[in-house]
Amino acid sequence: MTIPFNKPHMTGRELFYISEAHHHGWLAGDGKFSKLCHKELERVTGAARALLTHSCTAALEMAAILANIGPGDEVIMPSYTFVSTANAFVLRGAIPVFVDIRSDTLNLDERLVEAAITPRTRAIVPVHYAGVACEMDALLDIAHRHGLILIEDAAQGYGSSYKGRPLGTLGALGAFSFHETKTVISGEGGALIVNDAALAGRAEIIREKGTNRSSFFRGQVDKYTWVDIGSSFLPSELVSAFLWAQLQEADRINAERLAIWQWYHDFFEPLEAAGSLRRPVIPSDCTHNGHMYYLLLDDLEQRSRFIAALKAREIGAVFHYVPLHSSPAGQRFGRVASTMAVTDRQSDRLVRLPLWLGMGEQQALVAQAARASL
Ligand SMILES: *Cc1c(COP(=O)(O)O)cnc(C)c1O
Repeated sequence: MTIPFNKPHMTGRELFYISEAHHHGWLAGDGKFSKLCHKELERVTGAARALLTHSCTAALEMAAILANIGPGDEVIMPSYTFVSTANAFVLRGAIPVFVDIRSDTLNLDERLVEAAITPRTRAIVPVHYAGVACEMDALLDIAHRHGLILIEDAAQGYGSSYKGRPLGTLGALGAFSFHETKTVISGEGGALIVNDAALAGRAEIIREKGTNRSSFFRGQVDKYTWVDIGSSFLPSELVSAFLWAQLQEADRINAERLAIWQWYHDFFEPLEAAGSLRRPVIPSDCTHNGHMYYLLLDDLEQRSRFIAALKAREIGAVFHYVPLHSSPAGQRFGRVASTMAVTDRQSDRLVRLPLWLGMGEQQALVAQAARASL
């Protein structure tokens, strides 16, 4: 591809920090750079505790353990999401219960959630698609009234907000991804945001193989030992050093992505006005991070032709999720709790355009090729 769908951005200091980590003689987890990242994430989110993980998938798995999700429990989530949203809970023996999405933001339709609640329901897991917030006031109200824990899959939402509050900080727990296709990156990477301070101590233990190693390092206990279930969820300092360079530049990265996003949005406005496509919708109480630019075309056939036409011009455009309720594992482990009409229709129509820092004048080539390929 001459213009790839994604190209990982470097700020310039990543490799310097990695060599500094080596110079310190500490490449395992929770050294200087992990601590700097934790402090920065806690500053930005105001959360009780932020803990780096090796992926957002790992952060979601930690959240499922922390929420005491067990066999037969039900967890409400969209079907239009990445597999990890569901897998994290299926690993605990739980049942993902799929609810349809809103046709405007493609986020969990809060109006359908209450009807999906049963006596086995334990949690609601909204996904902030494209870094645009779900209707969190309504979802938090439902969670509160039914005594459910709310866990945000904020994989795409670092730097976005809802009514002035950062995504990842609205539920009891939030999960970010720093995968190379997201905005702020470390190749693979993620973080668990612990907003409910009562969960912070256990979160540290689960992340450190079920040991109280973190308390030991703080001098709070005189030996460390196995105290709970857990796994190795922490990243190496090599990854944290890379991420530290990116976190320091997060505001600039988000601003530049938003500028690219807005340029596409302006370019496609006349085509939307002419009825040729639909552009993303950003509710007025949401600010976003320019994570993704997508278009909604007429149907699956038009989208397939569109992607092939761009590919012929060496431009990487991609579709997104195969809805989980129609996947083999989703059918085996999950259940559907509403019509999936919007999920099925929008997932067939959606195409994502290249959006990466430094694409410069190539963006105009993508936009013109897109217009010519409708
Ligand atoms: C990217 C993504 C994940 C997984 O993130 P990793 O860091 O790759 O584990 C989970 N959920 C959503 C919605 C995502 O976009």
